[in-house]
Amino acid sequence: MRECDHDVIVIGAGPAGATAAALLARRGYRVHVVEREHFPRFSIGESLLPQCMGDLEAAGLLETVLAADYQPKNGAAFTRNGQATAIDFRDKYSPGWGTTFQVERTDFDQRLIEAARGHGATLEFGVSVSAFHSDPQRPGVTLRDATGESRELRAGFVLDASGYGRVLARLERLSREPRLAPRMALYTHVDEQIDDPDYDREKILIGVHPQDASIWYWLIPFRDHRASVGVVGDIASLSAYGDTPEARWQALIAEEPRFSALLAGARPRREVGELKGYAADVERLHGPGYALLGNAGEFLDPVFSSGVTIALRSASLAAPLVARQLDGDTPDWDAEFERPLREGIATFRDFVDGWYDTRLQTIIFHDQAPPEIRARISAILAGYAWDRSNPFASASRRHLDTLSALCRLQAERSEETP
Ligand code: FAD
Repeated sequence: MRECDHDVIVIGAGPAGATAAALLARRGYRVHVVEREHFPRFSIGESLLPQCMGDLEAAGLLETVLAADYQPKNGAAFTRNGQATAIDFRDKYSPGWGTTFQVERTDFDQRLIEAARGHGATLEFGVSVSAFHSDPQRPGVTLRDATGESRELRAGFVLDASGYGRVLARLERLSREPRLAPRMALYTHVDEQIDDPDYDREKILIGVHPQDASIWYWLIPFRDHRASVGVVGDIASLSAYGDTPEARWQALIAEEPRFSALLAGARPRREVGELKGYAADVERLHGPGYALLGNAGEFLDPVFSSGVTIALRSASLAAPLVARQLDGDTPDWDAEFERPLREGIATFRDFVDGWYDTRLQTIIFHDQAPPEIRARISAILAGYAWDRSNPFASASRRHLDTLSALCRLQAERSEETP
């Protein structure tokens, strides 16, 4: 292959890679996506946020998502010790979509990357990037296929969307300690038989362990009575629940009354998976001739389903800068990509911290907050963490502190009032 057949090499065909590839191919750039696996392949991370919809639309990927007839989602329901509450994304403060979907990623990821191909990107599956050749003008990668054959590919720019593969974080030594504590997730897909009229299929259900508020559960419904069910907590606590992932998952579900009731007749569709220490971060999200997208850069925590949203946002911010750079401009990657992207991620991180230290749980389960405050919280949970006009985005920590203290006070007062 000639050295410069491509304008852009995208490493990884997940949501970040597919979105970046679609955006750039639609502008006429020659985009080549290299993917280690063969699709369709399983991936965890099925609950989208409404913020995703605008990014999918702008990349020309919405049509294929709408055609899939996925389970609609309009919010999040929460359960803790028999107490139930819910947040409806349609009541959010920020403009934009108020609904989205719960997607089986095997199908979703395949649809996105095939749509990117439809927009003109070329794809290669079953090839793994094993080396990176740094060069501000013609960066390149070494690809290794299943037979062990290697070859080099050069382009005008490289986008690393390799997710947990963390290709450039490793090869360019960009990794740094994530600011979140290491946690673990146990998850599977089930066939469920839920006929409880109080179960709202249009919301993800988040449960809090009755005795340990740092352990939480998700129930993500798909079409046709299938669902994704997972448990998250610190590694030592969850590991103590049994000898195998299956045993741990079963024992933990049995301890949460709402989940165990809803899943009473559920049958597993796949083995219970276990992921540990998935939080990740890097020193910087760009360098000469490259940028890092989605999970290849920073990943936080599954609790607010922000992963795909961040992946799509990163691709949407990076693609126009790549285009400008290929056209001879010198974009300010710090000011135009890294800082704005990290602002939204920092808001999500504050919310994740607030969940685990229970400030946010206090707010969510205290459903007497004024509607305008709930609308601002709802906007962040719907993924609009980049709307800096929302004080819960621009000064999240301070507002979570104040509101949780108020909620606690009100709750104490109402307990004291006979
Ligand atoms: P990925 O989807 O991981 O795609 C990266 C691709 O790169 C893969 O296909 C991989 O095969 C390929 N690759 C890797 N290495 C190489 C290499 N060397 N060469 C070539 N290709 C390579 N997010 C949500 O939005 N909603 C959720 O409900 C949710 N739940 C989650 C639950 C858990 C337990 C966890 C851990 C995460 C969850 N997430 C969720 C996060 C979500 O899974 C990720 O944020 C999302 O998949 C990131 O997309 P991506 O495109 O950056 O990476």
